[in-house]
Amino acid sequence: MKRLNIGVDIDGTLTEPFYWLRRANAYFGTDVREDGIVHYDYHEALGVSRQESDVFYDQLGEMLHWEAQIRPGAQLVINRLFKQHHIHFITARTQSMQQVSLDWFRKYDIPHDSLTLLGNTEKIATAKQLRCDWFIEDRYENAVALAASNIPVLLIDCSYNRKPLPDNVIRINSWSQVEPYIDTTVSMGNWELAL
Ligand SMILES: [Mg+2]
Repeated sequence: MKRLNIGVDIDGTLTEPFYWLRRANAYFGTDVREDGIVHYDYHEALGVSRQESDVFYDQLGEMLHWEAQIRPGAQLVINRLFKQHHIHFITARTQSMQQVSLDWFRKYDIPHDSLTLLGNTEKIATAKQLRCDWFIEDRYENAVALAASNIPVLLIDCSYNRKPLPDNVIRINSWSQVEPYIDTTVSMGNWELAL
């Protein structure tokens, strides 16, 4: 059976999307609710500058990533997929977050073949290098860019990604919807037939 390469984002995809919000509200003295976040760049929703949100991340990022809640079903599905396929985590987190990311994987028993911390949101080069057959993501702009590079995407639904999607981006509501697309791609030998 063909082993696929599955690229997986971490924040908002493997983790709950708003795990940082409670501490961000406390830090900035704001009262922003989850449904008030309609942009991935959350500093706009919080009404603070990007520089201020960068300082917040420098100070609390490691703790936030350690505390992050995993999305329901993700652990089970990743473990099942890992038995048959390659799992490559590709994240915009910075290199300085490598250790906490690996510790967190251990805490939640998340197997993986590789972890790439890019420090930016440009994922296409890495996804191509790793020959990703599918990508699982929550950031709209990433999904559209990956899809334009012929890498199909399963986009986990969030308040900040509800915009029109190209044909090869599939909106899913939870991890329980992931495996049918992967399985069909394997059995049909072609992801286009899985859409
Ligand atoms: Mg993300």
